[in-house]
Amino acid sequence: MIKVEHLSKQFDGVAVLKDVTTEIKTGEVVSIIGPSGTGKSTFLRCLNLLETPSGGSILIDGVDILDKKTDVAGIRQKMNMVFQSFNLFSHLSVLDNLTIGPVRLKGTNKAAARQKAMDLLRLVGLAEKAGNFPDELSGGQKQRVAIARCLAMEPQIILFDEPTSALDPTMVSEVLSVIRRLAREGMTMAIVTHEMDFARDVSNRVLYMDEGIIYEEGPPEQIFENPQREKTRAFIHRIR
Ligand code: ATP
Ligand code: MG
Repeated sequence: MIKVEHLSKQFDGVAVLKDVTTEIKTGEVVSIIGPSGTGKSTFLRCLNLLETPSGGSILIDGVDILDKKTDVAGIRQKMNMVFQSFNLFSHLSVLDNLTIGPVRLKGTNKAAARQKAMDLLRLVGLAEKAGNFPDELSGGQKQRVAIARCLAMEPQIILFDEPTSALDPTMVSEVLSVIRRLAREGMTMAIVTHEMDFARDVSNRVLYMDEGIIYEEGPPEQIFENPQREKTRAFIHRIR
């Protein structure tokens, strides 16, 4: 379980995250929605230490990961992230994209890593692309490879930052269906998304972020059907 308390982040003196306090429980799927520029990506990036928070604490199973002694690579493996722009290694085959992390960072032996990688490629429907390079794939296929690569590290939680917003509309559903499947299997996930129908039916809880705080949070029925606060109502109304 992740516990975030009074998290703040400033860039050049400008407060982007002001005071974020929330929890993500094991097995929970949390969607993060809100207007552009309100700190959603910064929040996820702070969670896996791509940004250094300015204040507050992030506890994983009771351990403060902002402690200087933290093994940052270990945290990123536990809380692995999938990006809007895929970030695949373009000089490596699909299979090698999946095996490099386990082999280099976890010390998994090559044969075991390959076997696991093939299982994951089957899971995302791309076993036949194992020998191809990222440039030879469609956007939806690249993102499914990125999800499989993330799973290869056996994370406890996956952070998704707008996993479908760089995709043609025709490819969105193939990526969302992989994420839905992970949700059914009990994966803990935090997902920044503009796909409101998806957020509504995949999430246990929705965080509405605005101006660097979690302005309202609740079950999807509350946030989408019956928001309690004015800005949430205005946002939901605007995107409908
Ligand atoms: P979007 O929906 O457009 O992705 P967001 O909610 O993810 O927006 P962030 O990317 O977290 O927003 O950015 C929040 C604010 O922080 C923005 O004003 C942005 O310009 C600023 N910001 C983000 N990263 C940096 C950085 N590395 N240096 C300076 N400012 C930054
Ligand atoms: Mg963002």
